[in-house]
Amino acid sequence: MQNTVSHQKGMAEHEPGKKRKLIGDRGNYFLDRIQGEAGVNISACFQCERCTNACPVSHFMDIKPHQAIRYIQLGWREDLLKSSTIWVCLSCEMCTTYCPNEVDVAETINHLRNMAAHSSITPKEKSLAVFHQTFLEVLRKSGKVNEFRLMNAYYLKPDIFQEKLKNGTLKEELLLGLTLLRKGRLKIFTPRSRAIKDIQKAYHQARGEIG
Ligand code: SF4
Ligand code: SF4
Repeated sequence: MQNTVSHQKGMAEHEPGKKRKLIGDRGNYFLDRIQGEAGVNISACFQCERCTNACPVSHFMDIKPHQAIRYIQLGWREDLLKSSTIWVCLSCEMCTTYCPNEVDVAETINHLRNMAAHSSITPKEKSLAVFHQTFLEVLRKSGKVNEFRLMNAYYLKPDIFQEKLKNGTLKEELLLGLTLLRKGRLKIFTPRSRAIKDIQKAYHQARGEIG
């Protein structure tokens, strides 16, 4: 029965003028895109799991690093962009260091995170996604990250402010900020980076806004 179904399906796929839809099509496209844009040889992965074993936060990820690489090979874009993994990752590069095939897992996850940030997919770890976006905004404006400005901008995001107010951490974190200010560990003003133009150009290039 199974053979008959496959055979009939195969016949339909070969009808002239009808676009073939193969399971691998989407997978190959996604794989090619990641390999091309991030410059990572995803195909070299043979699923040894060393990256996951080296990762300090894999317990908090719904898709483990080695699985993320496999998902790319299979073209499962949406599952990856909806995962907690891309937001939980610390970019510590332990996975990349331990990979015997030089698969840059950390850069791959970083690339997926940027893809998710520019997509309409609701992030699984909302506050981490907002922090990522805020970090990039601050970096774009001054060419470097001033912690005071970053935290200010982050806490003033309506969702974050309400969440912190609700879970009771706002007061505690404000007091911590004041203590750091008093001790001179936070600077309110820092000069813009001299490389601001290059940084802004890289930012807009990464977003595909300029060539
Ligand atoms: S360590 Fe490298 S080869 Fe092994 S599963 Fe991770 S990415 Fe694949
Ligand atoms: S870069 Fe991310 S995925 Fe890789 S080991 Fe560090 S936290 Fe884990």
